[in-house]
Amino acid sequence: MPQDTGRTAFGPGLLDLAAHAGLSPDAGPVAVFDCQSCGACCAYAADWPRFSTEEDAELDRIPEALVAADLSGMKFENGRCAALIGDVGKHTACGIYDARPHVCRACMPGDPECLIARAAHGLALR
Ligand code: SF4
Ligand code: SF4
Repeated sequence: MPQDTGRTAFGPGLLDLAAHAGLSPDAGPVAVFDCQSCGACCAYAADWPRFSTEEDAELDRIPEALVAADLSGMKFENGRCAALIGDVGKHTACGIYDARPHVCRACMPGDPECLIARAAHGLALR
């Protein structure tokens, strides 16, 4: 959960889709969303969040029970990251906030990936 800044990085295909759909900060002013009442990007895709540039010591801080069987990223079950706490669109938190993967830290509220995830959950885009 990017309570301070953000996370995400879904992939170029979705970014293209976002651009075509006008889901881009360039399309106009975007609200500053409250991640703690959202959580949409933590409940968007099974390949999110994946591990990328983490050092072994960083990965060791993530409980094994929350890691995907193939060790590629966080476990994703029932449509959401296993570390996500709470109800999407209401009140959410990251259960491993201090140890969350790098992609989770990279997403910014209001960026294209954020807007895709929020749209998928029917949450406001502005
Ligand atoms: S690790 Fe935390 S911030 Fe990252 S997707 Fe899971 S719940 Fe969200
Ligand atoms: S989708 Fe956007 S607003 Fe919602 S938790 Fe992720 S970064 Fe924050």
